[in-house]
Amino acid sequence: MQTVLFHSTIFGPIHSRRLGVSLGINLMPDNGKICSFDCLYCEAGFNAQGHGDGVIVPHEEVKRMLSEKLAAMHAENHPLDVITFSGNGEPTLHPDFDLVVDHTLALRDRFYPNARVSVLSNSTMAHRPRVRAALLRVDNNILKLDSAITGTLRQINRPLAPDFTAEHVIETLAGYNGKLIVQTMMLSGEYDGKTFDNTTDTEIDALADAYRRIQPREVMLYSLDRETPAKTLTKIPIERLREIGQHIEQATGIKVQVN
Ligand code: SF4
Repeated sequence: MQTVLFHSTIFGPIHSRRLGVSLGINLMPDNGKICSFDCLYCEAGFNAQGHGDGVIVPHEEVKRMLSEKLAAMHAENHPLDVITFSGNGEPTLHPDFDLVVDHTLALRDRFYPNARVSVLSNSTMAHRPRVRAALLRVDNNILKLDSAITGTLRQINRPLAPDFTAEHVIETLAGYNGKLIVQTMMLSGEYDGKTFDNTTDTEIDALADAYRRIQPREVMLYSLDRETPAKTLTKIPIERLREIGQHIEQATGIKVQVN
């Protein structure tokens, strides 16, 4: 089932209590989804919906559209707190993701020097040198790790690469020398006749070990918020998320933010 797609490359600005005024950049097609994961909870729906027209907007065109949008917002004295890369799939799959990041940083400096640039990425391309260098240039480099146990990760995130493992992600993220935020979706449920729960003691201990190895500047824990393509998922109550967050903070000494 299709959930919500963004129908443009630049979207918003939207106002959020957590981020403030946020302008979004979607580097995947406007009418379909392309991702190296196929998460059970993806707000853009399952990959089975297709790539739409499959058009990946060239970096020069993203620059032009972003420049126009920021100039118009600036002319209207519109506030802006953050520019966020997310959208219909994985932004780092754009073949010139690093050039898009450079255009974005330059335009941010020109129009809104106090705004932050954030990237929400699923970590699958984080080992690639050009992607890594670009992620290290943005203000908030937010990388996904939903389980430190490969079987659970594969159940929740359903990576397209058959050899994708939690160990690979953890080692890749450890190579960021602490210049990252790790984001973890907490949930339980059942899919294809198999149950999973990444909030058990075993899962939390494995995550705490992974965070200790990675040493991110912060961990963000969250649970389901919007419609999901799989209908057999269970949201983790905020009180339980807070408990888990406190436990991880005590076990690792790393700041944990719970949303
Ligand atoms: S990584 Fe993000 S975009 Fe890709 S399937 Fe998962 S939630 Fe959706």
